[in-house]
Amino acid sequence: HLDIVDLRADYGSHTVLERINLEVGKGEIVSLIGPSGSGKSTLLRVILGLLPPIAGEVRIGGQTIDYRNKRDVKAIRSRVAVVFQQYNLFQNMDVLRNVTIAPVKVKGRPRAEVEEEAKLLLTRVGLGDKLKSYPDQLSGGQQQRVAIARALALKPEILLLDEVTSALDPELVNEVLDTIRDLATEGMTMLIVSHEMAFVREVSSKVVFMAAGHVVETGPPKQIFDNPQMARTQDFVGKIL
Ligand code: ATP
Ligand code: MG
Repeated sequence: HLDIVDLRADYGSHTVLERINLEVGKGEIVSLIGPSGSGKSTLLRVILGLLPPIAGEVRIGGQTIDYRNKRDVKAIRSRVAVVFQQYNLFQNMDVLRNVTIAPVKVKGRPRAEVEEEAKLLLTRVGLGDKLKSYPDQLSGGQQQRVAIARALALKPEILLLDEVTSALDPELVNEVLDTIRDLATEGMTMLIVSHEMAFVREVSSKVVFMAAGHVVETGPPKQIFDNPQMARTQDFVGKIL
């Protein structure tokens, strides 16, 4: 359970997030949509402690994160995993090693046990036959699915996905969306930034529309896409659908 309360963040003298309120309940899929520059990626960066908030709170499982405290930042990064648009796999490691490296090196878990779990995860994302391949031998969609398996190997309570399909060729988008759909079916809690509106509409329990650093409107997909309440949401939805 992730709770964001009256959050504010600045880049230098420029305020990029203001009074952000957002809740992701256990098992929920919350999607963040909004124009370029509205602050979606910045919000994920703040949650992960990559940009300290100026005001407000982030709570996970009821615990308020103090971003000045290194131990709290470490704690949230072990409870929340993220996949970005650029998959950033380790090019010099095979697929299995990419997925096992963090649980073994960072969490100090036994390699044999982590490898067994990693094989199951890779099978789950459709890559059970690619354990020994290197990233440059895989398609973009396959690499992005390795990145998702790598995030899941950390057993996060919440998975954050930031436009994970937007660097992919159109014909590879669906295989990644299918993987996310499967995770949704299995009850994974997710906060998703996506421009794939049909997908957002289909999988989300809740959609959050952001513009210019504010949450403009939050509601079920049906409200946001068919019956938006705010003029700014109507304008955005009118342009993209
Ligand atoms: P997109 O849909 O294009 O990914 P976004 O909603 O993710 O956009 P952000 O990347 O969060 O938008 O950017 C929010 C604002 O913060 C923008 O005005 C952007 O120019 C600014 N910004 C982002 N990163 C930095 C940075 N490192 N330093 C200064 N300003 C930044
Ligand atoms: Mg972004």
